[in-house]
Amino acid sequence: MDPESPTTKPIRTAVLLAIGSELTVGETRDTNSGDLAGSLSETGVEVAWISALPDRIETVAAALEGALAVADVVITTGGLGPTPDDLTREAIAAICNERPTVDPELERWLRHLFERRGIAFAETNLKQAWLIPSSTAVPNVRGTAPGWWVDRPDGRVIVALPGPPSEMRPMWQSWVLPRLRERGLGRERVTRTYRLTGIGESNVAALLGETLLRAQNPVVATYARADAVDVRVSAVAGDGRTAAELADEASAAVLAAVGDHVWGHGDDTWPGALGSGLAGRGWDVALVEAGTGGATARLLADATWLKSTRTIAPESAGSTDTAADLARDEMQQTGASIGLAVRAVEAGEDTRVEVAAAGPWGVSESSSTAFLGGSEGRRRAGITAAAFLHEILRKMPIQ
Ligand code: AMP
Ligand code: MG
Repeated sequence: MDPESPTTKPIRTAVLLAIGSELTVGETRDTNSGDLAGSLSETGVEVAWISALPDRIETVAAALEGALAVADVVITTGGLGPTPDDLTREAIAAICNERPTVDPELERWLRHLFERRGIAFAETNLKQAWLIPSSTAVPNVRGTAPGWWVDRPDGRVIVALPGPPSEMRPMWQSWVLPRLRERGLGRERVTRTYRLTGIGESNVAALLGETLLRAQNPVVATYARADAVDVRVSAVAGDGRTAAELADEASAAVLAAVGDHVWGHGDDTWPGALGSGLAGRGWDVALVEAGTGGATARLLADATWLKSTRTIAPESAGSTDTAADLARDEMQQTGASIGLAVRAVEAGEDTRVEVAAAGPWGVSESSSTAFLGGSEGRRRAGITAAAFLHEILRKMPIQ
């Protein structure tokens, strides 16, 4: 059979439409599209675009037409309620040129829901039992609005899901996604994430260069996260080359440009990344920090190798105690393999950070300026300390 024939058209591109005037007046945030986009991207489906639309039949119908011109699947959320302002079904019926009718089975189910709760059945609810000839009901076990799965003659699909995330999510996960998978969802995608520190996102971008950052496949993108600047390489097979080959090639270019700053991969966290350097040596760490409001302890929270944490007031750090003194004392008093000390002091708009680590190798220290003051500067001071210890462990030969 022709692999691109209508009934087997693989799902490679999606458009997401969030429908509801509460979204376009800014009363409700569209979280549904982000959830769906994450799920689709994971399976290798490219989301061409995401739009939020008011409850206006002409606007929704036009958006559906535009979306169907490029996407294999168009997923709408919202506008499936019983009230006259919910018009998603009407819009879909209009562009399909089909007339909705009450489905007897859905009507029975719906009336039963109301009987169960002893509530009178308002006839406006019947809208929720509508189907058009090309639609199949998507069961909703958490609400009264079933979704629609609509097969277009050219093999494209429209999926309409209700707006409440608590209804939308399970319908997506347990009903829609498995059916889309049967169609052949996405392409094999290879994704690699490099986690960087000690460099800002704009400098990462400058080092990577426009050619890499503008390429369509692999896509190389930077993301400023709270604990790292991430560089993500994402490739799909193409031009006779596998996704892995293409990802390898782009990854090599990324590492040549910014490899010195990489401290982790994928979803590595600081406690995890430091843990792998410490575990091999059987070392644990005692932390002391001043002026950081406990930011380092928070960043490293739950690390199994963290023997103790202590926050001291900036004054009691004493003007003569350096970070190196603090680190040495902490190691000796706690009996930990490593004493790690962090001192942060606001300096103008920014934060001066002193870090030191005392361990079996002796004492190392460093000072630097973290961008911004206040809680942001303190948060960055914590990352500075983690990055400092990571660098020591990375450079040290394992005995
Ligand atoms: P509906 O009756 O299907 O139009 O949706 C009803 C409710 O779902 C709205 O009042 C919102 O609270 C919620 N909702 C609708 N769309 C979204 C969205 N895109 N993201 C998050 N919540 C939404
Ligand atoms: Mg609505």
